Amino acid sequence: MGSIKIYDTTLRDGSQMRGIKYTVEDKIKIIKKLDKTGIHYIECGWPSSNPTHKEVFEKARELKLENSIISAFGSTRHYNKKVEEDPNLNGLIESGAKACSIFGKAWDLHVTEGFGIALEENLKMVEESVAYLKKFIPEVFFIGEHFFDGYKKNKEYAKEVLQRAWKAGADLLVLADTNGGSEYFEISQIMEELTKEFDFKFGIHCHNDSGLAVVNTIEAVRKGAIQVQGTVNGYGERCGNANLCEVIPNLQLKLGYEVLGENIKQLTSLSRYVSEISNMQPALNMPFVGTNAFGHKGGIHVSAVMKNSSTYEHISPDMVGNERKILISDLSGKSNVLYKLREFHMENIVDERHLPLIIEKLMELTRKGYDFEGAEASFELLVRKIIYPEISYFEPLDFRVITEKISEFGTRTEATNKIRVGNKLRHTVAEGNGPVNAINISLKKALEKEYPFIDQINLIDYKVRIVEGMQSTKAITRVLIESRDEVTGEEWSTIGVSTNIIKASWKALLDSFNYYLYKRFERKQDEDKFSTN
Ligand SMILES: [Zn+2]
Repeated sequence: MGSIKIYDTTLRDGSQMRGIKYTVEDKIKIIKKLDKTGIHYIECGWPSSNPTHKEVFEKARELKLENSIISAFGSTRHYNKKVEEDPNLNGLIESGAKACSIFGKAWDLHVTEGFGIALEENLKMVEESVAYLKKFIPEVFFIGEHFFDGYKKNKEYAKEVLQRAWKAGADLLVLADTNGGSEYFEISQIMEELTKEFDFKFGIHCHNDSGLAVVNTIEAVRKGAIQVQGTVNGYGERCGNANLCEVIPNLQLKLGYEVLGENIKQLTSLSRYVSEISNMQPALNMPFVGTNAFGHKGGIHVSAVMKNSSTYEHISPDMVGNERKILISDLSGKSNVLYKLREFHMENIVDERHLPLIIEKLMELTRKGYDFEGAEASFELLVRKIIYPEISYFEPLDFRVITEKISEFGTRTEATNKIRVGNKLRHTVAEGNGPVNAINISLKKALEKEYPFIDQINLIDYKVRIVEGMQSTKAITRVLIESRDEVTGEEWSTIGVSTNIIKASWKALLDSFNYYLYKRFERKQDEDKFSTN
């Protein structure tokens, strides 16, 4: 199988997605990550359309990229401008990019109705623009806009557009399904006709309006395309673009093309990194790279996967840098709990007599609305408390929170906490910018005498979910807290559940502090214990 080049347009096409707005710094971060993943081309934007795009090109020029070539995007010259005077073409040249993609009309209707010019004039625009850019930019890719629709309506004209671009020196002809409405068998047939008739190099650029962008892209490759244009996580306008996180593993792992080599193991990390920078929720069920892509819940599945992972997995998760996950929300099977314990390297400290107690406790908490998915520190803590019931770092007693709004002063919140640490009773009060913040500070104050390092914990994320109708008609609040040790960089997440949001938050915070203290003291004890065995 041949080698396929990946052309990423997350920063240009992908940024058209609703809710995405990249700063220059965001773009630079994504460029570095794409380079690390071995993506061949990175399209950074349309230099003449926006001054911030220009800035990205300037900054990108200073980066020492190992794998990627920076590309710029633009269009063929304006119909009443000469190439030398066209700001769009000159913008591409001035960007300093070593590659560029320019689009031109391939559908006759768009030429006559959209531009209102003669068909021949559009052909001239294509050939003159390509020829001009080729003098300055090493690689020039020509994108036939609406190519497949144009081909279906006027095959001869669409082919003529490609021929002119090729003769003018284009390095590659990218066929775009701009409206995303083509079926895979149409793409297949058109590609077959083209490769039979011409000796051109082809690329493919699909949009996902029919939910077929990935399959259309793969089919185009099977029929001879050697460059794939798409975006990380399928970001893009409307229904998005071809999702590179799905296209790449299909091409490389299933069909045997040479794409990213060993770097394919970075794919999961790339997907999550880009969703983080884009401020988009990661799609949990995204094939290959989603958190749940290798998540097993049913007891029978779990025991089968533990014996032989190929029973319920199409590939091994590590091939794309993902990992297997056993969801512990379903506790019907002993095997789920065992698997989870193994994941936390706790199987050695749990023995047969603990197991029924752990399962019983988990089931009780699940009935109350707990879900330990995403709150793994709370899970670990629960297990540790069953194994070492005698160990306690502090005992929470009472708390109180007051929030008041005074018209002249605004809002203020005060929290008090009463806890027992050893034989000392600590009663502390603190102010915060909100109830959770105030409880957090007051708890730290209560603990800091005995555990002075407690101050290095920071609350980094806080999520609230209302769980409807668990036991009765009363809604239950589930709070997830993410904490970080600012010294070691370690992060963990804990859960609290209650019908009262403040109480749920308080519980999640207690778990967070408790987990931290367990980690600090218990890990060492475990190690000592096992090293003497
Ligand atoms: Zn596009």
